[in-house]
Amino acid sequence: MDDVRRAGPHTRIIHGGQQTDLETGAVSTPIFQSSTFAFADAEQGAERFGGAPGYKYTRLGNPTVAALERNIALLEHGYGALGAASGMAAINTVYLTFLSQDSHAIVTDCVYGPTRTILETEYARFGVQVTFVDSSHPDNVARAVRPNTKLIFIESPANPTLKLTDIARCADIAHRAGAILAVDNTFASPFLQNPLQLGADVVIHSMTKFINGHTDVVAGIIVARQEDVLERLRSVHVNLGGTMDPHQAWLVLRGLKTLGLRMERAQANARALAYYLQRHAAVKWVNYPGLVDHPQHDLMRRQMRGPGAIVCFGVRGGLEAGRRFINSVELATLAVSLGGIETLIEHPASMTHAGVSAEERRKAGIADDLVRIAVGCEDYDDLEKDLEQAFEKAMAGEEAGV
Ligand SMILES: *Cc1c(COP(=O)(O)O)cnc(C)c1O
Repeated sequence: MDDVRRAGPHTRIIHGGQQTDLETGAVSTPIFQSSTFAFADAEQGAERFGGAPGYKYTRLGNPTVAALERNIALLEHGYGALGAASGMAAINTVYLTFLSQDSHAIVTDCVYGPTRTILETEYARFGVQVTFVDSSHPDNVARAVRPNTKLIFIESPANPTLKLTDIARCADIAHRAGAILAVDNTFASPFLQNPLQLGADVVIHSMTKFINGHTDVVAGIIVARQEDVLERLRSVHVNLGGTMDPHQAWLVLRGLKTLGLRMERAQANARALAYYLQRHAAVKWVNYPGLVDHPQHDLMRRQMRGPGAIVCFGVRGGLEAGRRFINSVELATLAVSLGGIETLIEHPASMTHAGVSAEERRKAGIADDLVRIAVGCEDYDDLEKDLEQAFEKAMAGEEAGV
């Protein structure tokens, strides 16, 4: 295929940036499990350290990691990408690249817990200033801009409120302020949303989630729209050391091949579950961007290719009924994380967002009764049956005054 860039979404996922190994004909990218790479002579070694193409040392670059980086860069329409040991390693590289003492960042208030916590604890020690805003209203972002604002970091859809942020508007605000716009695109995956095409400068993913998709690897990636931004990130990233291992990269490449298939199926399941929950007497409220009554349904249709596979809802009967419900599911697994082939269920206020104070959780819209389902690829009927029996147990417990 001449240019896989112009191919359909599944073809791009499967073939983007991949090539058959020239020497052996291996169709699957080999695992180059080597920490270092031999030079033909002293001159070649010197040239490579001077910037000539070729590998030197795995922390600085590795062929298996590079195959994954080419693929994700292509899927996100970026100039290039940098594999990271975890999603948090990717986020730390972004923070350390663009923030310095006395610089200011604007961050979505309901981001992934540690994305927020490290700014409040560690970065504050070095004099970095941060304003957390409800970025679902871009005016809040614009109002927070200061002369020293260097980074706007948004998560859309955000975890776990599923609030969306208008990426194009925020790109405009960032660029007027001379700041970088970085977007955590983990919840959408590159299959459903491409922030760089909407004007963002940097995209990060926790590849632990949808991209790898098999609940067996922790990994992250940073994608940059422009070469100069990528090179700034690279020099921080490779020296900071949160880079990727070749075996880890190979596992992610393997999982990634079915990203499109998995997303389509998980999203179809999520949509059907959202309708089921909406009609259910034991459910107080349902939050899913695919529902027409989601406050940002129109924005979802503008900037995403689908609402994704995460559904949040509140169980009637408060925390206690919610706890009984979560303890009664059998097929869905009680665990944090998301984006795998199996359905996971969790309670953010006591689990993923327990590190965020009750006051901050309330401000960020993370209700105490919020249950998050990361819908997987099982047969829909089995998922519905499982939730139904769990609701029955939760409600029976309530009636018996347990
Ligand atoms: C999981 C997650 C992260 C952190 O990724 P790790 O791979 O666990 O380090 C960051 N952002 C979002 C939205 C996530 O869901």
